[in-house]
Amino acid sequence: MTGPDSESGPGAGSGSGSGFGFETRAIHAGQAPDPATGAVVPPVVLASTFAQSDIGVHQGYEYARSGNPTRSALEACVASLEGAAHGLAFSSGLAAEDAVLRLLAPGDHVVLSTDAYGGTFRLIDKVHTHLRYTAAPVAEAWQPETRLVWLETPTNPRLDVVDIAAVAAMAHERGAIVVVDNTFATPYLQTPLALGADVVVHSSTKYLGGHSDVVGGFAATNDDAIGERLRFFQNAAGAVPGPFDCYLVLRGVKTLGVRMDRHGRNAAAVVALLRGHPAVEDVYYPDRSEVAARQMRGFGGMVSFTLRGGETAARRVAAGTKVFTLAESLGAVESLIEHPAAMTHASAAGSPLEISPALVRLSVGIETVDDLLADLAAALDAVV
Ligand SMILES: *Cc1c(COP(=O)(O)O)cnc(C)c1O
Repeated sequence: MTGPDSESGPGAGSGSGSGFGFETRAIHAGQAPDPATGAVVPPVVLASTFAQSDIGVHQGYEYARSGNPTRSALEACVASLEGAAHGLAFSSGLAAEDAVLRLLAPGDHVVLSTDAYGGTFRLIDKVHTHLRYTAAPVAEAWQPETRLVWLETPTNPRLDVVDIAAVAAMAHERGAIVVVDNTFATPYLQTPLALGADVVVHSSTKYLGGHSDVVGGFAATNDDAIGERLRFFQNAAGAVPGPFDCYLVLRGVKTLGVRMDRHGRNAAAVVALLRGHPAVEDVYYPDRSEVAARQMRGFGGMVSFTLRGGETAARRVAAGTKVFTLAESLGAVESLIEHPAAMTHASAAGSPLEISPALVRLSVGIETVDDLLADLAAALDAVV
């Protein structure tokens, strides 16, 4: 792990220095014991306003939309994990993405890598309608007005890997910034800013939170001007997370390293089962990608596959497991299964991002691996 840590401002704490390892920073960055009480966990500060000893004289907090101590702790911690100078927490992943897209001016062109999260596509296509975009690989989609390249890697749900350093070099040469949605990999497996990306975004709802009990988002950058504008949008548009939500994400992040290790180990066993099963046509997992081997420290817990039996078989498998729960979302301790064409990616129907109805996506959890394998094998055997 390289890159500067956020050590300035409220919430900076012990263990946040760049000399510390990932897990130490996950547990300590921004989380020094509370000076007032010695509490080893940052207090959930619910106050919406903060007393001033004289006009404009305060301890760093005035009004809780502009700043909150629990949020500051979370921001310092995740910024440290991403090797970022600036970290901003939002009320959802899409709120973080919305703030990043506000960096652009009307008429600016966005390159959206194919195979992006459906909600990201909808945000660009239906909300930021003053922008122009092309959903295609970067080299084909480039235009003179391209100001931003939006990457997801690995992609959702096909787990394609994009070479972040190569795209960043190309974009920077032509005056555009690169945003990487790091939700699937997490900073434990991949640090895009160190590879040349300008901004990292997260749905903290997924692996950062890790327990399917909070919706949140995050943006991080080392660019001071971008950091300042994102901070302005966070306050001026107001899509801030509540203090308890910040606490839940901060609590989740403490175990991110051990969870990702287990997600990856269980996913590797699931991939081996799928690759050997007669009902399965193709398996999508980044473990055979040279670029992934270079830019990732592991391959994560997301696995997709297509069924030889097409849509009918895919729907039966998705509805036919007992330990894997049929549900949208991903990245938490429990294993989930879903049918993207009809669920998470339904809004991409008819667009270049449309997903094959024969595809099933798994978020492999951290349950006992033999139970996961037996559950999947039974569902697959039924559609051979
Ligand atoms: C879920 C998700 C988002 C959106 O985040 P929300 O927290 O649901 O707003 C963005 N990108 C990816 C890759 C996601 O999985």
